[in-house]
Amino acid sequence: MQVDEGIAILKENGHKYTDKRADILTYFIHAKGYRSAKALLAYMETSYTGISLDTIYRNLRLFEQLELLESREKNGEKLFKIACKSGTHHHHFICESCGLTKPLQKCPLPVYTEELADYHVNTHAFELYGLCPTCHNR
Ligand SMILES: [Zn+2]
Ligand SMILES: [Zn+2]
Ligand SMILES: [Zn+2]
Repeated sequence: MQVDEGIAILKENGHKYTDKRADILTYFIHAKGYRSAKALLAYMETSYTGISLDTIYRNLRLFEQLELLESREKNGEKLFKIACKSGTHHHHFICESCGLTKPLQKCPLPVYTEELADYHVNTHAFELYGLCPTCHNR
């Protein structure tokens, strides 16, 4: 995703362009993997003195609603990354060295259909960790 694509989606959905929003998009586009709200705040504070965590969270929620960002929880903390192109339900391979995330299109949930026949699954999480080709060959 490019910054102007994200801005276009904001505008289409009736949200104003602000330099802050463009900077948040830029931050996530340049990050290869997941980042916390606190990491974003630290980055934003370099340009916007006194910006609050509240403002950060408000924009993160908005961006997630608009599917510009996707999120996951790790140790009780919500982490965000720029949305993968796929748009549909998917999982990730995450590089433990550089944080690069690769979307995985196949969902393993159907494997358990039989085993959980009498159960109702509400949510599921599936992630693979390891080294990306660049880090693996280093
Ligand atoms: Zn994704
Ligand atoms: Zn890597
Ligand atoms: Zn799935």
